[in-house]
Amino acid sequence: MSNIAASIITIGDELLIGQTIDTNSAWIAMRLNEQGIDLLRRVAVGDERNAIVNALNEELTGASLVIITGGLGPTADDITKPLLRDYFGGTMRPDERVLAHVQSIFAKRNRPVLERNLKQAEVPDSCTVLFNRLGTAPGMWFEKDEKVIIALPGVPFEMAGIMTEEVLPRLKERFKSDAIVHYSVITAGEGESFIAEKIQDLEEALPAHIKLAYLPGAGAVKLRLTGKGSDEAKLNEEIQVHQLAIATRLEDIVISLHDVPMEQILYNWFTAHGQTLGLAESCTGGYIAHHITQIAGASSYFKGSMVCYSEESKQHILGVNKATIDENGVVSEATVTEMARGLLKTLDVDYALAITGLLGPATPADREATGTVWMAVAGKGKVSSKKFLFHYDRHRNKEVAVSMAMLMIYKFVTQGEYPWKP
Ligand code: ATP
Ligand code: MG
Repeated sequence: MSNIAASIITIGDELLIGQTIDTNSAWIAMRLNEQGIDLLRRVAVGDERNAIVNALNEELTGASLVIITGGLGPTADDITKPLLRDYFGGTMRPDERVLAHVQSIFAKRNRPVLERNLKQAEVPDSCTVLFNRLGTAPGMWFEKDEKVIIALPGVPFEMAGIMTEEVLPRLKERFKSDAIVHYSVITAGEGESFIAEKIQDLEEALPAHIKLAYLPGAGAVKLRLTGKGSDEAKLNEEIQVHQLAIATRLEDIVISLHDVPMEQILYNWFTAHGQTLGLAESCTGGYIAHHITQIAGASSYFKGSMVCYSEESKQHILGVNKATIDENGVVSEATVTEMARGLLKTLDVDYALAITGLLGPATPADREATGTVWMAVAGKGKVSSKKFLFHYDRHRNKEVAVSMAMLMIYKFVTQGEYPWKP
C-alpha cells in the first residue's frame, strides 16, 4: 500500500502560548518522511477535551494514520488517556509490564510510588501498549476502521524513544510503502534565485517522482532531491544522475554532495591534507572558532582563534602596524591582511583567516560603513582578501559573516580542486 497520508496532533497549552516550541511534530514528520509516509497536516491543540476530540475527528477524515503527542503524563492536566478510552471504547486495565517498569523506576530513584504514578500503568483495553523504556507513561496504538491512531507522551526524548523502538518498525510492517531517497547538493555563497535561474532547465527536466527543494540557510543553500519509487536500487541510480548534473552545472558554488555543515567539510579537507588552521577574529568574537570546534576532533587541525577586538590587541598579538590602522582604518584591506599574516606567525599555522568589520546597528557616525566586513586568508606564501557588505541586523550579519569566512577558507585551500567531484 502506498500513499498513506498521516496527520500529527500535538497537545499542550504550553504549545499554544509559545512557551514550548513544538519540536515533536517536526521530528515525527522527518521520520515519517524517511519511511515514505506523506504528511497531510500538523495540528496543535490545547489541553482541552473538546479541542482534542474535534482535532481527532477532523484528521481522521483525511488521514489513515494519526500520531498524537502530549497529555499522557502523571499531572492533573492529563486528559488524553480517558478521552481515547471513551473514543475507542472499552475500559481501563492495568498493564503488568508497565506497572513493573514504573515501580522499578521509582525504586531506583528511591522515591515512593504515588497513586498517580500507578495510574500511568493503566491503559484502555482497546489499545496495544507501546512500551516506554525511558519514562513512565506508555504509548498506545489504536486501530479503527482501517485507520491507525497512536498516542505518545509529550516529553521529546520519550516520544522519540517509543517512535524508534516501537512505532516505526510496526508502521513499516503495517504500511508497506514505496522507497524514498534523498540526495543533496550543498551550495554556498549565492542566493536561491541565482541558483534557480542557473538550473531551471535541469529542474524542469526532472521526472514526476523526483522533486527538488531549496533549503536556504545563512550564506548557504541546500538543494535536496527526493525520489520515490518501488525499485530502490534503480531509484538511487536515477537520482544520482540528476544530482551530478545539477552539481556540475553549479560547479564552483557547490561545496558538498552530502548534507554536512561547512565546519565538517573544513575538518575533512584539513585532516586529509595534514594542514593546520588558525583564526584572528575581531567582529565575530570567536564565533567562527565556535563553529569549527563543533566538530569532534577539530583539535587535530585547528590551533586556535585570537579574538583581537581592540586596535591594541591587533597590534600586540597579531603585530599589525599602528600606522596601517591609522592610515587605512581598522576595517580595511590593509589591516585585515596584516592580521592574517600576523596570525600565521603568532599561532604558527599553515593557513590563517582574519576578519574585521562593523556589524551594526548603525550609529550616525558610521551609517555608511555599517555591515562592512573585511576578510583575508593567508598561507603558503599567498594572501587573498575580500570585502563584504551585509545588510541584516547585528545577529544575522554575524551568522552570515561566519558562513562566508568558512567558505573563504575552503575556497582558498581547495583552489578550484573541488573535493566533491567524483
Ligand atoms: P502531562 O500529562 O504531564 O502534561 P505530557 O505527556 O503531556 O504529560 P507534558 O508534561 O505536557 O507531557 O510535557 C512534558 C514535556 O514535554 C514538557 O517540557 C513539554 O513542554 C514538552 N513537550 C510537550 N509537547 C511537546 C512538543 N510537541 N514538542 C516539544 N516538547 C513538548
Ligand atoms: Mg501536557
